[in-house]
Amino acid sequence: MVIDSEKTIEDEKLPIMRHSAAHVMAEAVLSIFPDAKFGIGPAIENGFYYDFELPRSLNPDDLLLIETKMAEIIAADMPFVRQEVDKEEAQRLFAHQPYKLELIDEVPDEKVSIYRQGSFVDLCRGPHVDSTGEIGAFKLVSIAGAYWRGDEHRPMLQRIYGVAFDTKEALVAHLKNLEESSRYDHRRLGRELDLFSIHDEAGPGLVHWHPKGAVIRRVIEDFWKDEHIKRGYDIVYTPHLAKLDLWKTSGHWEFYRDYLYSPMEIEGQEYIVKPMNCLGHILIYKTKLHSYRELPLRYAELGTVYRYERSGVLHGLSRVRGFTQDDAHIFCRFDQLEDEVVGVLDLALFMIDTFGFENYQVLLSTRPQKYAGTIQVWEEATKTLSQALTRRGVAYVIDPGEGVFYGPKIDIKFKTAQGRGWQGTTIQVDFNLPQRFNVTYIGEDGQEHLVAMVHRTVLGSMERFLASLIEYYRGAFPVWLAPVQVMVIPVADRHLDYAHKLEAEFKSEGVRVKVDDRSERVNLKIRRAQLDKIPYMLVVGDKEIASSTVSVRLHNSEQLSSLSVESFKETISRVIANKVKDLKL
Ligand SMILES: [Zn+2]
Ligand SMILES: [Zn+2]
Repeated sequence: MVIDSEKTIEDEKLPIMRHSAAHVMAEAVLSIFPDAKFGIGPAIENGFYYDFELPRSLNPDDLLLIETKMAEIIAADMPFVRQEVDKEEAQRLFAHQPYKLELIDEVPDEKVSIYRQGSFVDLCRGPHVDSTGEIGAFKLVSIAGAYWRGDEHRPMLQRIYGVAFDTKEALVAHLKNLEESSRYDHRRLGRELDLFSIHDEAGPGLVHWHPKGAVIRRVIEDFWKDEHIKRGYDIVYTPHLAKLDLWKTSGHWEFYRDYLYSPMEIEGQEYIVKPMNCLGHILIYKTKLHSYRELPLRYAELGTVYRYERSGVLHGLSRVRGFTQDDAHIFCRFDQLEDEVVGVLDLALFMIDTFGFENYQVLLSTRPQKYAGTIQVWEEATKTLSQALTRRGVAYVIDPGEGVFYGPKIDIKFKTAQGRGWQGTTIQVDFNLPQRFNVTYIGEDGQEHLVAMVHRTVLGSMERFLASLIEYYRGAFPVWLAPVQVMVIPVADRHLDYAHKLEAEFKSEGVRVKVDDRSERVNLKIRRAQLDKIPYMLVVGDKEIASSTVSVRLHNSEQLSSLSVESFKETISRVIANKVKDLKL
């Protein structure tokens, strides 16, 4: 297992070059649209963008034209010249640029800096490359709408995205990678493999799991529950609605109101759908007095929660409005905290390994500027988390000031082959809720003490986790997760009986098996099963029936030798039970 503890630090020169390319793009746009109004044009990962207000919508042909203009400006090798001017002069220079005027107003200093290349001038802090000739290989990749300053009450501008690299080779490699990622995008594969859908009629960000997607989810949930029970968790269930007053006591109504849905009235009382499972678990805990001997208590729930996300940020399964967290809350004494965190780390690493993620990054987030509790208690808890990480031998990086206001946390991010990161495990200490709800235990001294409370999720949510599995495995799931594990393919109709006999036999062993009984050519059936990424295809004809064998094919077209029915049955049962990742038998 690879532990990736390095935060990727991009070459510092690249962002400067990319931002300079944004200036060149702005100049090119102005030459085509003399009335263009400019927003901002920063460097971003792999490239840059610039926001424009234009007299009409851009189309892909415009991008080609802008690219051509940019190439001319780059070939002319114009120097970038910095100049400092008083605000008044800047206001004159940008008199027809309302967005720039707004930015100038906000500069606290007397002077602002501007940059010129040729006759083009832009308001900018810099730095830039020395001249346009230093801009490397670039390409404009897309157009999107973007509100000025991300505010939906301000005008919608047109954003042009570009990518830029030092060399042509690096650009080509990146574009190829982009194309691959889109081919393996979970939204696309989810549709092709018939796993889930999202409907306008039902509302954006609300996921419908189809039978095949639901099989994967059930397998994950069963595994998850068994593993939690083995590790001393109690499974609980809590309702989807609760009185608004509860969320006022917790502080959620005050701090997270933007993410909560509006209250609904029931018999004169206001209720909301739950954004988190924590409070239900606290209520269960508080139904009894607990002595120090009973702790730790670990309540686990596959709890469905609802949070408001703007429709603009919703994305397939990875950013949704309703999702099921694999949640748990641990109530313990402070002297048990380190052991508990080690226990959660053990469980998380075991799960990550079982699901086959080989690359991940661990972050420890520390005290932010606004926080609940005392500095002393924060320092102790942060130290406990780092000691737990060290004890478990996990390499991590500190993410300074990124803790939530109520406590420090550990995050584990999975990475895909394309280098994309997925938020997975979170282990979060909480100094806020135990106090607000007076969550206590009776100590050895006979006195009441506040518990140490840990919120934790291992996989994140069922929705986001499925998205990461789809993209990580490109839809070709390990056998134990595959919705259909075996497709029996009879060569001709006279082999159907044998095929169905095998189906019944495998099914009784708990194998998810189907027969392709269409009257189609074998090659067509094989092709279908490959597209569905079914791990094993068993082709059966006269020869196989005579010898009680099956001819095994993998979805990647690899042909394995014939196996006796008995030995295939025995092998696949073992592969499923052991959650083996490799398809080879
Ligand atoms: Zn600039
Ligand atoms: Zn919680």
